Amino acid sequence: MLARHEGPSEPPPPPTAWAFGYAFVTLDDDQKLRRRELLEWYPFVAQLSVLAVLALFQLGFLLSWLGRRGLEHEPPKSPSLDKRGHGKKTWLRKSRQNVHRILWWMKKPVVSNWGTRGEWVGGVIWTVWLLYLSIAQTGNDYFHLTKRFGIIGASQLPLHYLLAMRTPYSPIQFLTRLSHEELKASHQILGRIVFFLFALHAALYLNLFVLFGVLAKRIKDLDVIWGVISIIMFCAISTTALGLIRRWNYRVFYTSHVVIANLVVITLFFHVSHIRLYLYQVVAVIALHLVFRTFRLKTYSGTIKLLSGTNLVQIRIPLATNSALAWKPGQHVYLSRPVGASYSGSYYDQLMLRNQTNPFSVASIPAKDKELLLVAKTLNGNTKKLAELARTLSSTGSNEVPDIPLALEGPYGASTRLPDFSTFDSVLLVAGGVGATFIMPIYRSIVDSHGPNHAGSPQIRFIWAVQKLADTQWAFPATTDNEGQEDPSTPSKSSAVEVFVTRPSGPSLHAGEPGDEIELAEDDQLLSMEEQMERPRRGMVLGSGRPNVPAIVDEVFSKGTSVAIITCGPKRLTEQLSRSVEQWVKQGHEVYWHDETFGW
Ligand SMILES: Cc1cc2nc3c(=O)[nH]c(=O)nc-3n(C[C@H](O)[C@H](O)[C@H](O)COP(=O)(O)OP(=O)(O)OC[C@H]3O[C@@H](n4cnc5c(N)ncnc54)[C@H](O)[C@@H]3O)c2cc1C
Repeated sequence: MLARHEGPSEPPPPPTAWAFGYAFVTLDDDQKLRRRELLEWYPFVAQLSVLAVLALFQLGFLLSWLGRRGLEHEPPKSPSLDKRGHGKKTWLRKSRQNVHRILWWMKKPVVSNWGTRGEWVGGVIWTVWLLYLSIAQTGNDYFHLTKRFGIIGASQLPLHYLLAMRTPYSPIQFLTRLSHEELKASHQILGRIVFFLFALHAALYLNLFVLFGVLAKRIKDLDVIWGVISIIMFCAISTTALGLIRRWNYRVFYTSHVVIANLVVITLFFHVSHIRLYLYQVVAVIALHLVFRTFRLKTYSGTIKLLSGTNLVQIRIPLATNSALAWKPGQHVYLSRPVGASYSGSYYDQLMLRNQTNPFSVASIPAKDKELLLVAKTLNGNTKKLAELARTLSSTGSNEVPDIPLALEGPYGASTRLPDFSTFDSVLLVAGGVGATFIMPIYRSIVDSHGPNHAGSPQIRFIWAVQKLADTQWAFPATTDNEGQEDPSTPSKSSAVEVFVTRPSGPSLHAGEPGDEIELAEDDQLLSMEEQMERPRRGMVLGSGRPNVPAIVDEVFSKGTSVAIITCGPKRLTEQLSRSVEQWVKQGHEVYWHDETFGW
């Protein structure tokens, strides 16, 4: 079974034409050798072209850096664009504005939940390029075309697995300066392209077997059996990766993805020998990924507790001397589902430790707070179990919540590549609900670096929409009147967090939303929390109802021409924000935009 298969043996072909000018041609030995050379050359070009794309990224970074440097010594900017444009470097500014407009256009969705324009443009260009590499110099040789589709698809597998790497040591993350979350879309698109090429390869072989009347015989051959198993696996992995399935049951998606992604390497290995070079590369990527993930997985000791009046679970891990103290604001970790005790070395426990994990943003600034704070909204899967465990632990009778082992893998995330905010006129931070876990540490670190009174640039505004005031308690712990005075990250009134309470009364769980059956918040508990928080806590100003996003955006842009916008929250909120910002981008304002999405 381990014998190398040289690919499906060709039946004696009558030289009949098939379609699109292709025919079942008979080749002599030299022609077969030439075909084999081309079958190795074109996948090599397909792999090289990935390097060309990465080189384009570097060129883009260089041009962007040169553009920024070129404008550094321009006269001070005016918020009114009419007053600009007379500098010597107008062409440079105009070029930058055009690039920003194009990038903004690319980020917009084609249709809701159907990817962005950039993803479609990139996906179509890559598909056309790979199709070209599949067809070039195949002449009229049907076999050549059929084999080429398969081998070009296989040549993309190493990149496909690289794009799925969580670790920041991934060369793709390093060279594109994009995080795992930002690269997920490319992984999905490439997966579809590879599946398409494999499907063409399988369909053409099937057609051949039927036309030559050898289907019944060939279907019993091992190479064909492994090929059929592989294509079924690709069908399964593509189906369970659909957004519909992911949102219905994340575990089904995740488990099938991990299991099939590993197994398919074996079935492809036995299918045909010519693609093994790419499979060795895939195995190397998988092995490296496992090693990097293992290095990032550590067990800490901390507490979990329910935040009264909310459907939030708070996880606190004190840090004394630990490498986690160096983690950056806005990074996230994967929390393994805690069992309330140490994980044993059993296979099952170790499997759970590595695979029953959920990502959560670190809501504290580790170096400053000397702790890791996670805040998890209770939904229906692991977070529900987390809430149940927190309730069990709090009902032990003692006043203190007991420490339990908590396994975290990380840190990960794009926040290490956020720009220097001091170069912007304004920074607008917009969070919805638990999205503030990402925004709050970034906000605090900007405030820290500019001192409590925020003299000079940038102007900072942080808008946070919550359903209940109680949802903010993890970010604004109760302090005595004197506490917090010396803390530079306690903002002055002029830049206090603007908290908008959208549903001031009634329970915080709503029928029809995930987790609505979890009765964590008794109404009386909720009221007492709202009463406790009636007086806005230090560092916040209170508003009721939804924030008027368009008006806020207009005000921010009226005060400066370069604005950094960081947002994290429900799609409705971030889409409204994006629509409001768009007109300013079109007018040529310089906008840095980062939208951290918790759901996908
Ligand atoms: C980078 C990042 C940071 C996040 N930070 C926070 C945070 O600070 N606080 C917070 O409350 N939530 C955060 N989330 C969302 C959080 O990870 C999910 O709500 C949580 O994993 C749902 O767990 P569950 O098993 O109870 O979900 P389920 O009830 O089983 O599923 C609910 C939905 O959550 C999503 N989901 C489930 N598991 C995962 C997973 N492992 N990875 C990604 N999505 C998943 C799926 O889309 C699913 O439809 C973050 C998500 C990401 C990607």
